[in-house]
Amino acid sequence: LAVETLGSTSVILTDKTGTLTQAKMELTAISSYQEDNAENKSNLLNYALLNTDVVIENPQDAPEKWLMSGRALEVSLVKGAALNGVLLTKVLEQTKIIDRLPFDSKHKFSAVVFKTDSRSPRFAGEAGVHLALFGAPEIILRFTVLTHEEREKMIIEIEKRAYAGERVLGVASRIVGAGHENILRQQNFNHLNFNGLITFRDPLRPHASQAIKEIAAAGVKTIIVTGDHRGTAEAVARELGLVDGKGAVLTGDDLMYLTKEELEARSREATLYARVTPEQKVMIAKLYQERGEVVAVTGDGINDAPALHAADIGVAVGSGTDVAKSAADLVVLDDNFETIVVAIKEGRRVLQNIRKVIIYLLSNSLDEVFLIGGALILGIAMPINALQILFVNLFTDSFPAVAFAFEDSIDDLENHPKKLHKNLFDREMKFFILIIGTLSSAFLFALYFILLKMGFAGELTRTFIFASFASYTLFLTFSLRSLKKSILSYNPFSNRPLTIGIGIGLLLIVAAIYFPWLQQILNTISLPPIWLLGVISVGFLNILAVEFGKWLFRKRIIKFI
Ligand code: ADP
Ligand code: MG
Repeated sequence: LAVETLGSTSVILTDKTGTLTQAKMELTAISSYQEDNAENKSNLLNYALLNTDVVIENPQDAPEKWLMSGRALEVSLVKGAALNGVLLTKVLEQTKIIDRLPFDSKHKFSAVVFKTDSRSPRFAGEAGVHLALFGAPEIILRFTVLTHEEREKMIIEIEKRAYAGERVLGVASRIVGAGHENILRQQNFNHLNFNGLITFRDPLRPHASQAIKEIAAAGVKTIIVTGDHRGTAEAVARELGLVDGKGAVLTGDDLMYLTKEELEARSREATLYARVTPEQKVMIAKLYQERGEVVAVTGDGINDAPALHAADIGVAVGSGTDVAKSAADLVVLDDNFETIVVAIKEGRRVLQNIRKVIIYLLSNSLDEVFLIGGALILGIAMPINALQILFVNLFTDSFPAVAFAFEDSIDDLENHPKKLHKNLFDREMKFFILIIGTLSSAFLFALYFILLKMGFAGELTRTFIFASFASYTLFLTFSLRSLKKSILSYNPFSNRPLTIGIGIGLLLIVAAIYFPWLQQILNTISLPPIWLLGVISVGFLNILAVEFGKWLFRKRIIKFI
C-alpha cells in the first residue's frame, strides 16, 4: 500500500454494520404475522434459528454464557432467542437439517430445508419436511402467498420500523412434500406462508459521528454503502449527521433504472446508497474514481472482494472474511470507522512530510546546478566546489531531512483544497521547488557576481556564498513545516528533533568555516563576523520569499488548473 494513496483519499465508501455501528444487535421485537401468540412467536424464532450458521463453543453452559462465532446478526438472533426461552441447541436436537443456502449479500436472505420428527410439538405440530427463509423482509415477501394488498400493508409496517432505526428481518416458510428435498437447488421458493418479522437494534459506535466530522473537515467525504434497508440506513445516517433531506439517498434499484446522466447528477449529492449488491458496490467505487476522487472502500464479506480490489484503498475489517482481507490494502483490526480516519490522517501526515523533505532536498540540488552552471556560462571561478556540495548533502542537510519525519500535522486538518492530488508531486510542490530552487540560486549567483565585481577577495566571497548556500535551506525548513500556513501562525520551533537537526547543521557550517582542518579540506577561510550577518540575511530573504509564495496560494492569487 502506498502511503501517498492513503493520505490522498478523498472519498470513503463505508459499510454500515460493524464499522459505523457496533454490530451488537439487540433483538427488539418478534412479531408474528398470524395471531401474535406465544406459540407463533416461538415458531417464528425456530424458523429463523434453523437458518443460522452459528457455532456455540460451550453449549453445555447456560445460554447467557455461550461463546459464539458466526455472522453478527445470527449470533445476535441466537442470543435474543435464548433470552426469549427458545434455545438453538434444543431446536437442533428436534430437527434434522437436510439442505441450506447460507446468507449472502447478493440474495439478502438465507434458506434452510429441514425435517421434524412427528413427536415434536414444534412448528404447530406439523411433522414433515419444511422450507424456511430468513432475511430482508421486502424480498422474502415476494415469495409468499400474500395478496397484493396484504403485501403493501406489510411493506408499510416494515418501512415504519426501518425508519425508526430498527433492522428488520422477515421469516417465511412452508411444508414441502416428500421427494422435494432438493428444492434449494431448483431455487423454487414460491408459495411460502409469511410468518412475521424479527427486529434488531444496532447501536452506533460512540465516536463514529465525531470521526466523520473530523475527516470531513479535512476535505474527505464519507458515504455509506450498505446492503441494508433504506429506512434503517437512513436512520443511522441521520443520527450520524450525514443525511438531512431525502435527496441524498440512492438505492440499488435507482442504480439499475437511472440513466447514466441522472446517476451522474444524483450521485454528486448522495451520502447514502442502500440495498446495494456487491456488484453495485464496485460500480459505485468506479463512478467516483472516474470523477478523479481517490476512493477508499471498506468491506468484510467474500462478496466485497471485487469492490476492495476496485478501490484505490481497500479496507477490510479485522472480523471480516479472509477473502476480504487478502483483497484489501489495509486491515483495520478493531473494525472501527474511527481507526480508518486515524489511518488516513496518518497517511496524510506522512505524505506531507515526504513532500517537505523532497522540496527541501530537491530545491538544494537545483541550486547546485544554477550556481555552477552560471559560473560555467560566464567563465568565472566556481562559487562552490565539489567537496563543499558533498559536505552539505551528506552532513548539514541530513539531520533536518530525517527530522521532518517527526513533523506533526500542522496542516492535516485544515481545509484542504477540494481536489486532492493523486500524485506525490502536486503543483504546489513543483512551484515551491522551482521558486526556492531557481530564484534563490539566481539570487545567490548574482550576489556572487556583484561581490566579485565590487572587488572583494575571491576566497572571502566564495566562503560567504558557501555559508549562505549551506545555511539558507536550514533556515527555510522552519517555513517548509507547513506548505499552507504562515510561519507566524505556528511555533516554528515546536518540532524538537527538527530544531535540533537545524542546530547541528548550523554548527557544522560554523565548523566548516572556522576549524582549520576543515578550512583546508573545504577551501574556506574564517569569515569576519559582519559577514555572518549577511549569511543570516540571505536565510531570512528566502523565508520571506517562501512565505510570499504561500500567501499567494492562500489568497488564490496563484492558482493551477
Ligand atoms: P450491511 O453489511 O451493509 O449492513 P448486509 O449485506 O450484511 O448489509 O445485509 C443486507 C440485508 O440482508 C440486511 O438488511 C438483512 O435484511 C439481510 N441479512 C443480513 N444478514 C443476514 C443473515 N445473517 N441472515 C439473513 N439475512 C441477513
Ligand atoms: Mg454485512
